[in-house]
Amino acid sequence: MKIVMLGAPGAGKGTQAKMLAAKYRIPHISTGDIFRANIKEGTELGRKAKEYMDQGQLVPDSLTLDLIMDRFSKPDCANGYVLDGFPRTIPQAEALTAALKAKGEKVDFAINVDVPDENIINRMSGRRCCLKCGGTFHVKYNPPKTEGICDFCDAELVIRDDDKPEIVKKRLVAYHDQTQPLIDYYEKEGALRNVDGTVDVEVVFDSIVKILEA
Ligand code: ADP
Ligand code: ADP
Ligand code: ZN
Repeated sequence: MKIVMLGAPGAGKGTQAKMLAAKYRIPHISTGDIFRANIKEGTELGRKAKEYMDQGQLVPDSLTLDLIMDRFSKPDCANGYVLDGFPRTIPQAEALTAALKAKGEKVDFAINVDVPDENIINRMSGRRCCLKCGGTFHVKYNPPKTEGICDFCDAELVIRDDDKPEIVKKRLVAYHDQTQPLIDYYEKEGALRNVDGTVDVEVVFDSIVKILEA
């Protein structure tokens, strides 16, 4: 099963993707997590990506596509995956469609987690992230079992540099300009499914599972 998670920054894509990956035993692939891991390790890719990420802008397609195509070639992708934060532009979506088509495959579901901009700033200000496994939590709405510690891997949680309100506003602009058009793209492909992302984490999850198992 190949799933694409769509939605604004902070809509809950990562939270849901991690739960889906566990339930269906497929990898959760987040380009944002891969970039952050590279930044932490001080790689050349990380250095380049950070310049854009710190400004709330998208990393150029060329860098992103090289990285994701390499990731798809790993053996754990054989039974599908849940993509979180990729594709984020029309050229990225077209590249994904073409790469899958060459193997006679396609995206099965593009799940659009719908959350209005008004709710986003609030969510981001309480977000806590695990740089080791990509776990995300919220101090109020989805707290970890132990404060400051990742439930999944026990690493320390951090506040992301780009979750400051002024950067979040720029990321929302980038989302509306460059990523929102993917909703139409996947509608035309017949893969789009919309879910209300404003309700509790577990309720959002149930509605996604219903869609996948319908
Ligand atoms: P969020 O979870 O808030 O949506 P991500 O972790 O997915 O954020 O992405 C953080 C940043 O990493 C983005 O603002 C962007 O700079 C960069 N990024 C992640 N994925 C992509 C992508 N597919 N294309 C371009 N830039 C990306
Ligand atoms: P994205 O990957 O789309 O950027 P995240 O999954 O990281 O979004 O979620 C953003 C923030 O909102 C996190 O702090 C997360 O714990 C919280 N969150 C996720 N889903 C919900 C929900 N349904 N209700 C309230 N808060 C949520
Ligand atoms: Zn973790």
